Amino acid sequence: NVKANKGRRFEFYDKEINSLSIQKYEMQNKLRNALSNQEFILHYQPQVDMATNQIIGLEALIRWNSPNGMVPPGSFIPIAEESNLIIPLGEWVLENACEFGNKLAARGYQTPIAVNLSMLQFKAPYIGELIQSILTRTKLPPELLELEITEGILMDNEDECESILSEFHGMGIQVSIDDFGTGYSSLSYLKKFAVDKIKIDRSFIKGIPHYDNGTIAKVIIELAGNFNLQVIAEGVETPEQIDFLLKNNCHIAQGFYYAKPLGEDELMAFMEKSKRDNG
Ligand code: C2E
Ligand code: MG
Ligand code: MG
Ligand code: MG
Repeated sequence: NVKANKGRRFEFYDKEINSLSIQKYEMQNKLRNALSNQEFILHYQPQVDMATNQIIGLEALIRWNSPNGMVPPGSFIPIAEESNLIIPLGEWVLENACEFGNKLAARGYQTPIAVNLSMLQFKAPYIGELIQSILTRTKLPPELLELEITEGILMDNEDECESILSEFHGMGIQVSIDDFGTGYSSLSYLKKFAVDKIKIDRSFIKGIPHYDNGTIAKVIIELAGNFNLQVIAEGVETPEQIDFLLKNNCHIAQGFYYAKPLGEDELMAFMEKSKRDNG
């Protein structure tokens, strides 16, 4: 009978939800412990000028060095974002990335470091003051910090976004739009907001030239040009993609072709080698 069945299904569904939220809760606890046990580390992925092979920037990418092995951010950032944990975690990332940026600068590498900002962080009260105090504490010049936000963040409350972005700009920090082309936003915000750079999502680079003729990538590059924004291609893995991008006026790439995200020491070695190779 229908009613009894429905009842049972509902009960089953309910239990599943419960065990899911228990899992999430446990994960949040683990992440909180990981933060106090200093189990997070940052890797850095070079951004390269494809014409000259020079490293023009780095992106900081978090990893969880857990007792059970290295955990990629895709497995814990969304869970941290569902609680307030992303706030202290994000602060840890900012602080460590800025510290490392300053260490690089002291060794003669004036290389900007890009840090990913989550929605909650971006909209947290006093985000400007927080970043300013981190810059002051770590002595990183603001022009060596870049903040990456996604289109989704800019979708609601335009006025609030505008004032936060203007504040960043006033401080001398660069702002880029990450995963560009994957959001649902209107393009009008490119005119409205103080942003410097767009990052073509790697889904639009992936198939070039064999499965994808690069139409979307071309449109994004042209769009960036029209708005006077810098453009960078994410997920570049092959020389064919590099040829395509250079031909179409995109000069900066971040991808496994050049380097995977690297730990501090590996990155330092990579930068030194790159400097030697470039004379
Ligand atoms: P994202 O910001 O778009 O970062 C680029 C991702 O693409 C990185 O994955 C990087 O390892 C990967 N990638 C780079 N080049 C290639 C390539 O040639 N091929 C392929 N297949 N992948 C490539 P990762 O490190 O796993 O990070 C995933 C996402 O997690 C990031 O995407 C970002 O949204 C988020 N994330 C990472 N670190 C942080 C952080 O500190 N804070 C916040 N809020 N989010 C972070
Ligand atoms: Mg990013
Ligand atoms: Mg991206
Ligand atoms: Mg992404």
